[in-house]
Amino acid sequence: MRRITALFLTIALLLALACAFAEGPESHYMSKWRYRRDGFHRATCLDDGCDFQLNAPCAQLSVTYEGETFTACPVCGHNAIGNGRHRRCLVQLYDYDTSPTGDVLVNQYRSPFGSDSDVASAFSVVFEHAGQISVFEGNMRLWLTIDCPAQYELFRVENDELVPCESEYDAAKKILTFEVPSGSWMYVILKKA
Ligand SMILES: [Zn+2]
Ligand SMILES: [Zn+2]
Repeated sequence: MRRITALFLTIALLLALACAFAEGPESHYMSKWRYRRDGFHRATCLDDGCDFQLNAPCAQLSVTYEGETFTACPVCGHNAIGNGRHRRCLVQLYDYDTSPTGDVLVNQYRSPFGSDSDVASAFSVVFEHAGQISVFEGNMRLWLTIDCPAQYELFRVENDELVPCESEYDAAKKILTFEVPSGSWMYVILKKA
């Protein structure tokens, strides 16, 4: 009996130690990243009574189209430059097929160059861990739900160039599938000419 009690105490002690050292975001139910101020974003634990939070500096990704540049933080979606008021497409993350520690974040910037621009929408795809951009190995397959009123084409921004993306579109489900190479990317949806 004494041995069983000792075993239980040891297990309880180990569990307590595991909790005390569980400081990473994986052991909490974290909120989305939100812009705070001064170029920092924050995520907080949503569990009752837990005040764990993480703060990290914003990153920047940009897209230049016809001489205008739009810049935003791909983690919290905060716009550093650009109006981002017009919404002509709705882009949302549906699924992805890579699973290292952390999250794939898709942030949409609506129409960053105004309603007259051919850019219907811009969105970023990054891999995030503890509020900072991380990397994944190889290619990742990404599924997005996309709701656009007009015909569109998808481009990835690479060294300020717009590179056309091969993608499959399921019109009935409004799901777009494409490969994302390792890295942090801004994508734009252009109205078909
Ligand atoms: Zn927590
Ligand atoms: Zn940010």
